[in-house]
Amino acid sequence: MNDFTPVTLKRRYARSDSRVLSMMVFIDALGWEVLKDRKFMEAELPYRRKLKSVFGFSSACVPSILTGRSPRDHGHWSYFYYSPKTSPFKALNLLRALPKSLSDRGRVRHWLSRLLAKAYGFTGYFQIYNMPLKFAGLFDYCEKHDIFKPGGMNHGDNIFDVLKENAVPYHVSDWHNSEEDNLKACRDEIEQGEIRFAFLYMASMDGLLHQVGKESSKVDEKITWYEGEMKQILDVAQEHYDEVRVHICSDHGMATVNETIDLMKTIESLPLEYGKDYVAVYDSTMARFWFHNDTARSVICKALDEEGLGRILSDDELTELGCDFDNQKFGETIFLVDPGVIIVPSHMGLKPITGMHGYHPDHPDSDAALLSNVAPIGNVDAITDLFDLMKVESGIRTTQ
Ligand SMILES: [Zn+2]
Repeated sequence: MNDFTPVTLKRRYARSDSRVLSMMVFIDALGWEVLKDRKFMEAELPYRRKLKSVFGFSSACVPSILTGRSPRDHGHWSYFYYSPKTSPFKALNLLRALPKSLSDRGRVRHWLSRLLAKAYGFTGYFQIYNMPLKFAGLFDYCEKHDIFKPGGMNHGDNIFDVLKENAVPYHVSDWHNSEEDNLKACRDEIEQGEIRFAFLYMASMDGLLHQVGKESSKVDEKITWYEGEMKQILDVAQEHYDEVRVHICSDHGMATVNETIDLMKTIESLPLEYGKDYVAVYDSTMARFWFHNDTARSVICKALDEEGLGRILSDDELTELGCDFDNQKFGETIFLVDPGVIIVPSHMGLKPITGMHGYHPDHPDSDAALLSNVAPIGNVDAITDLFDLMKVESGIRTTQ
């Protein structure tokens, strides 16, 4: 229902004595199915709906929230893509002699990622994950800039470009910081009473859900914690503003993992050579392939067709999902596993994990959520609709 016509909105914002704050609170992986059967701010946020997510990981979903566009159009999808000419990682080849016991260690990889990000001036989220150092020089990385800043997208504007252009005073969390720090920074800005719009970013729910799965009582505890924190910040906001409009959103949900497949072993047992005949990136729910000859293409596609726990996505389906990229940038063949299945080991992780996302967006565990204290203005059915909602909420557009 649209209860704010342009006229009433105009009148509302024209009142010089009326101070309005709109907040978009992002909680990573707080999916519709995660919230099901749980109580979370029902009295404060009575407008609740599920949102269709985008195919991909947070590296695809968050840019879609911030731009209102599909991965094809904003250019952010999985982190690594085959591009030996532009790869910034060629020097990693020198580390190939490190013993596997050392180079596979999480802390070593984390340290290496920080060093690389600094050396290359990456301001976006960067992790080398478990990409093989020997082949890292074949790949480039898609999130080199901070996507929460104006100018952060690979293609086009994000909401922060738009807020800046329209001189809207706003606050956005620093994604490097903890949830506690982000809550405090947001609260401090609200107390100044000068911002019109706030984007509060909280990401630790995602890590917890990966570790313990959506059924765990630890998730209940975390939701109770969010509720306490949100109520506090809303109290502060209501002291400083006449009207506080709040939306809590997420980017995707979380499925419970019930099966693993060793796809890397299957592919590596074929009579083909990685780097010479083909190149692959194994994300946790998908495997992406580039082929150097027709034999490699047909042998690998046949092996994937015979793999019972997933399927190759057709070009038409990728187009429909908004994941058809120029020159098949993120893979010539995309293999997606069934919900609840993960590829182990993968280039994202070496061990099984309890929860995972990055499945087909039609699966209920992929659905995101939107909870609000006001009826969302316009049609808000998918995470890509949040961009226009944020424009309306920050007073830039009077209606969608
Ligand atoms: Zn995640």
